[in-house]
Amino acid sequence: MGAKATMGGVIIKEITVKNALTRSGLPEYDYALNPYLGCQHGCVYCYAMEFTRGEPGINWGGVVYVKANLVQVLSREVRRFRPGIVGLSTITDPYQPVESRYRLTRRSIEVLCNAGFHVSIQTKSALIIRDLDLLRRCSGSVDVGFTITTMRDTYRLIEPMAAHPLARASALRRISELGIETWVFLGPIIPGINDRREDYEPIIRLARDTGSQLIIDRFRPRPLVIKVMSNRLGHVNTPSRSWWSVVLKDVLALCREYGVECMSAEDEWGMARGRKR
Ligand code: SF4
Repeated sequence: MGAKATMGGVIIKEITVKNALTRSGLPEYDYALNPYLGCQHGCVYCYAMEFTRGEPGINWGGVVYVKANLVQVLSREVRRFRPGIVGLSTITDPYQPVESRYRLTRRSIEVLCNAGFHVSIQTKSALIIRDLDLLRRCSGSVDVGFTITTMRDTYRLIEPMAAHPLARASALRRISELGIETWVFLGPIIPGINDRREDYEPIIRLARDTGSQLIIDRFRPRPLVIKVMSNRLGHVNTPSRSWWSVVLKDVLALCREYGVECMSAEDEWGMARGRKR
């Protein structure tokens, strides 16, 4: 374990890693790249806390490990690995605040883009605007997705440290104006939290205005997530099949009305199909 510091009350620790790219379990990616372990955004519904070992997983949002030698390891790997699609990131936010200090995400995109890999970025942060120059340079090799669960201030209940949805929307507009492929992840939709038209209709309009594909997903409660949500919100509303059927139908109807390409994430309830590049 290397240097230790704090940032906005979050403990930041540097670690070294042997591998940078990992095989992705997600069908849309060949590889996953996670520059950090843990996430300062601390979303209460985040499934990644279940897959993150050690302190960052136990104290979700309170501890972040920084993979200090990531770029050096990645630079060696891209010479050996077959180019493919890299999901950045799958269990952390690549543009959480600590990225402003370490720039691991920026430097990784640069390495991957120069080596002929495609980078699929997903974030809830407007810090990505810092890298507009790089995104412009790599425009044919990147796509950018913003997760937005509601445009209302109630987002603070479930995503306490993420950027305001309006800041995410503004960043999305700027990136889309560069001609870069963009998409919006509307999820998870949680019963009683963000399942009303006023939550998702503005997001569908944003997708229309930016020419973004919309991917929707429902809340999938997992044991640790239920514990965290119960502690922070005092309750957990479990989704039912009938509830999701009604919400999904309404979202899909609005997508048709606005002319937005809309897909559901993989759903074991078999109501729709997953995102494919
Ligand atoms: S931004 Fe993403 S990775 Fe970070 S806590 Fe929220 S859902 Fe999890």
